[in-house]
Amino acid sequence: MADTVYSHRVRSVECENCRAPLTSNALEGGQVTCSFCGATLQIAGRRREHREETRIGEADRLAGLNAQLKAFNAKQALLQDPEVLRPFRAMLADPATRAAGLEGLRQEWEKVRRAVGAGGAATEGETHLLRVALVVALTFREAGDDARARAILETALGVLSDGEHRDLVRCRLVQAAVRAGDLEAAEAWLAEVNGRPIKLELDHEVRVARAMLELARGEHRKVLETVGRRRGDLPLLPRVRPHALRAHALAGLGDVEAARQEIEVALMSFLHAEVAEEWKLCPGPSTALIGEVTTKYKRGVRLSLLVLGAIVGASCFGQCLTPACLSTVTCGDDGLYSLAMQRLRECPASRDALGAPIVWAVGPSGCSGKGGVGCKDGCQLPWTMHVKGSKARGRIRVRASRWTGKVTLVTGDLYLGDRIINFKDCP
Ligand SMILES: [Zn+2]
Repeated sequence: MADTVYSHRVRSVECENCRAPLTSNALEGGQVTCSFCGATLQIAGRRREHREETRIGEADRLAGLNAQLKAFNAKQALLQDPEVLRPFRAMLADPATRAAGLEGLRQEWEKVRRAVGAGGAATEGETHLLRVALVVALTFREAGDDARARAILETALGVLSDGEHRDLVRCRLVQAAVRAGDLEAAEAWLAEVNGRPIKLELDHEVRVARAMLELARGEHRKVLETVGRRRGDLPLLPRVRPHALRAHALAGLGDVEAARQEIEVALMSFLHAEVAEEWKLCPGPSTALIGEVTTKYKRGVRLSLLVLGAIVGASCFGQCLTPACLSTVTCGDDGLYSLAMQRLRECPASRDALGAPIVWAVGPSGCSGKGGVGCKDGCQLPWTMHVKGSKARGRIRVRASRWTGKVTLVTGDLYLGDRIINFKDCP
């Protein structure tokens, strides 16, 4: 297979003079003439380093990752979109502002690169550089400018001093190389990464990168070993990509029913647009199923909402305007109100979607079905309430095993437009 811009056999960094991508065979460094500005530059060789190895057993490593997953807070995550890039990214959707958006991103990258290069490489400076590099490289890659994306990633690799940060960059080089069809380069970049990291976000990235390479090679069984056969088998962050990789691998192995179920799980947990985009960006054996499963799923959701509406209309729905009212009309004094709110606030997926602080919101609430007023009888009727956070508002629907004495949630779903988040069994 021919080398692509992601080849591991060449150096590709940004020109110090004009910032154009500069590619050279001199892995050890040397003089290079920029074909864009004509400047002759001395480029440093690729840093040689020993791959970090984790020296604890796999069971202990997984226990540590699971503990991190339980305590995971997206607001404190290492990998997140820097605020400063958001206005420019928003400009990409409109063809009229797209060029300005890309230029804005490039300039922001230039700014952080200069700040860190000037010796300000404090930890926050490095973290910021890592975040900006990953987002800007991804944006250029999606815009079709792979050469620039590669140069940004390899430039970041040369600047970042933290081995884990560099491994995160390498994981993105693996993903980009797979997308470009350069599996040899992907394998070479992956070989430099510690395959058994102890940090959750890095482990997630390593698993995704490895599974993408395995999927591209048609090694479907290996994909399932890497990302787990089912959600929850392995400590992975609540992201849509592992679902896509799993569904593709299952379909590739001929287990079409399991692949369909995996797509349904993704539709239950993420915005439908996000799921559609993921399957489009990362196609595979389950791509043929996505349209059919999505249509069937939407029909099912609409039907259940319709049934709920009919029950509600015919029965007891209370119009609550104050939390005090909620505690009488909706069994709040039995602890269901506070239990539901507590679970909702604890679950990272619902917390992320609504945005803290999460509080009750004005809207129809109460239990549906016969005996709405008498729902302290231990009935298992669904109970609904509106909630809101700093980012969105939605509706929760819960069922409890007992509505008097000690209350246990049986189901707990948050409805946000098309999206339903199971906050009771929050992943
Ligand atoms: Zn140049």
